[in-house]
Amino acid sequence: MPQSKIPSFETLKALEAAPAMFLVLSVDFYILTASDLFLQATNSNRENIIGKYIFDAFSDNPSIKDADGENNILASLKYVVAHGKTHLMSVQRYDIVDSNHPDKFIVRYWEPTHTPIFTEDGELFYIIQSVNNVTEQILSRLDAEQSRDDNQANLQQVDALNKNLASAHDELIALNISLESDVINRTEELLASERKYRNVIEHSPVAMQVFRGKDMTFEIVNDAMLQFLGKTSDIIGKSLFEGVPEIVGQPIVEALYGVYNTGKPLEIYAEKVDLVRDGVKTAGYYDVIYRALYDHDQVAGVLGIAIDVTPQVLARQTIVESEARFRNMAEKSDILISLIDDKGQLEYLNNAWYILTGWSDSNLQTFNWENYLHPDDHADIMQRFFKVFEKQQDFVNEFRLLDSDGNYRWIRLRGTTRLNTEGDFIGYICSGIDITDEKQHFLEIEYINKALVHANDQLVNANLRLIDSEERLLTAFDAGELGSCTLDLKTGKADMSVRYRKQYGLPLEDDISWEMVLEAVEPEFLDEVNTVLHHAIEFGTPVDSTYAIKHLITGERRWMRVVGKVYQDEEGINERVNAVVMDVTGQKEDEQRKNDFIAMVSHELKTPLTSIKGYIQLLQHKTKNIAAFDGHSFVDKIQIQVKKMNTMINGFLNISRLESGKIQLNKSNFDLCALANDLKNEYEALITTHQIVYSPCSEFWVHADEDKISLVINNLLSNAVKYSPTNSKIYLQCEKVNQQVVLSVRDAGTGISSDDIPKLFDRYYRVQNEKTNIISGFGIGLYLSAEIIERHGGKIWVESELGTGSTFYFSI
Ligand code: ADP
Repeated sequence: MPQSKIPSFETLKALEAAPAMFLVLSVDFYILTASDLFLQATNSNRENIIGKYIFDAFSDNPSIKDADGENNILASLKYVVAHGKTHLMSVQRYDIVDSNHPDKFIVRYWEPTHTPIFTEDGELFYIIQSVNNVTEQILSRLDAEQSRDDNQANLQQVDALNKNLASAHDELIALNISLESDVINRTEELLASERKYRNVIEHSPVAMQVFRGKDMTFEIVNDAMLQFLGKTSDIIGKSLFEGVPEIVGQPIVEALYGVYNTGKPLEIYAEKVDLVRDGVKTAGYYDVIYRALYDHDQVAGVLGIAIDVTPQVLARQTIVESEARFRNMAEKSDILISLIDDKGQLEYLNNAWYILTGWSDSNLQTFNWENYLHPDDHADIMQRFFKVFEKQQDFVNEFRLLDSDGNYRWIRLRGTTRLNTEGDFIGYICSGIDITDEKQHFLEIEYINKALVHANDQLVNANLRLIDSEERLLTAFDAGELGSCTLDLKTGKADMSVRYRKQYGLPLEDDISWEMVLEAVEPEFLDEVNTVLHHAIEFGTPVDSTYAIKHLITGERRWMRVVGKVYQDEEGINERVNAVVMDVTGQKEDEQRKNDFIAMVSHELKTPLTSIKGYIQLLQHKTKNIAAFDGHSFVDKIQIQVKKMNTMINGFLNISRLESGKIQLNKSNFDLCALANDLKNEYEALITTHQIVYSPCSEFWVHADEDKISLVINNLLSNAVKYSPTNSKIYLQCEKVNQQVVLSVRDAGTGISSDDIPKLFDRYYRVQNEKTNIISGFGIGLYLSAEIIERHGGKIWVESELGTGSTFYFSI
């Protein structure tokens, strides 16, 4: 069936049940539906005819050659289409198929009327072909005409037929009887049809009512209609205004009377009717169909059919209102609002879009994004859009768009799917915002962030270096046995390292004040320490001070050197001193020993020099005054003193060479036992104060510097002589132990305390006691000996007991 507008399903359903015979035709004469009575009268079935071209469903009886029903009806329909007017046709013969014998037709005469039905816009909507079955009347008339003709012929041939009068009379009586029975049948049929008609209305699910007479008395009102009206069946028999008083003055009444007065059928769509239901005035919207009901040729009443379309109307009103609200809001909004239809076409843009882009609504249909999107964004954005569009998903896209000034602006567009009331996808509603500034900030932030990351990396590196250098500093502090201290010049609070605290004997954990530090300082240094501190506070003078302290726990005297720097606060005020503290007791003592040593050297060198000076003066004097003076003995004495000085100076030279690394070992193979024996003999010749007892070993060859080893043995022997009483014995022993030769010198002298033993081989170290103080010496003999033995890879040590004597050993 070709597509044309058709009435709603409800309308068709209502029409089907209407108590009249009609076909509902599309404007191109296809059957939309037929009323139940029509189907009944034409022996047809609704399913077989709906959707068919009228003449395919109902064709002329082929056995009648000059059948013209089809042509006449077609002409009438065309007239209705052409003029938009109802067309009443004369009686038409249009036979119907005999349902018992489908190849046979039953004679039928009809009075068809074609009524055009229009839409609200006045457009032809559909055509109602209503028919009256006048077969009986026509056939009766034809029969009557036939019998009248027959009578006239009879009259004309009265004489001729006189003979047959009696039989004709009988026939007439029979005919009369037959006619009477026809009338009775027809009356019964009518009554049956009336019942059927009433039944159809009363049981129809569609709201229907029948008004009779001028005052519109309710004759039939079905339940559905009573429900609409909010009334009970009491209104039946009452007039419209009695039964439904609230209807007075409403437009629907005028429409109803229009149909009654003109007989013209009427259909009104979505008519607003106010009705009182349960005492409440309620507005409703109805599609209303009115059809005039005829009694003979006079309009006797109106059939009314109503379909409640209130929900649809209200829904439409809501949509219209919300649409209006949306537009109003969208137009005033700064947000870019747009609608895209289900084909992806721009349907609507709000004012904000036009202001930003300078576009106009005239070119929306032909709009091409490519002309406005940034070339770098176009392909990507379109691809993304079509992807979500296909899946009918929401989306958020960011892109650059040309604005009315020809600049690209960053837009963030959020699309939300639009669905109609049936839930079908009908496009997108989009909201967009200009995020150019945001993007700019983002780029700036990104840049700053990168810079920060870089700075942070550098900071981390610097920190690592700092940690590293701090560790190294700490290691250096540890290696140098340095304490550290920060003195807050404003509060006097001192922050000290553990080593510092230990150095002073201060508490290891609690806060320490500067006063507590000063308590340890020896009184003779207090002035100096305070002055240094005062200068630091006042003038920022760097701190470098060496002073003696009395260890707060042991009472031991220690020398401390503090070196520090003053740091200023932001206002340039001296706020703290960071200082390093070292225990310089060793250096101080070394220095002291050095000073003692120098004094002693001066003294020792002065003694032979004084002797030499005396001998030379004597020599001068004697050679001047005594002609034959033999100065030989003086020269010998001078020789001895010079030798003494030479030995002394050689000793000092050896030390300085040793310390500057210039001492050389001139190694050779020699027998150590033989060397010891030679030296013993040399000593015995030289000294008379002591007895040397020698225990020789068999020869033991070593590869060593013979002069230096003999210097070591000499030192040990001379010390034994120096530090043991006259006439005591000195034992020189040479023995082999584990493939090594061990040489020892034992005396029965003063002995050495266990405190002194570890320091004995230190440079300038001399045991300080009453006995040794009176014995001259420089504290370098053992130091030198130890250096020589160690450079040979050997070992030197002492065993001693105070007051008993000492034994010095070396092994190589
Ligand atoms: P010095 O020239 O003072 O003797 P040394 O280095 O030879 O220098 O000896 C260092 C110190 O060791 C001496 O001052 C002395 O106190 C102590 N000393 C060395 N040998 C002996 C010893 N045999 N008995 C006691 N004390 C000794």
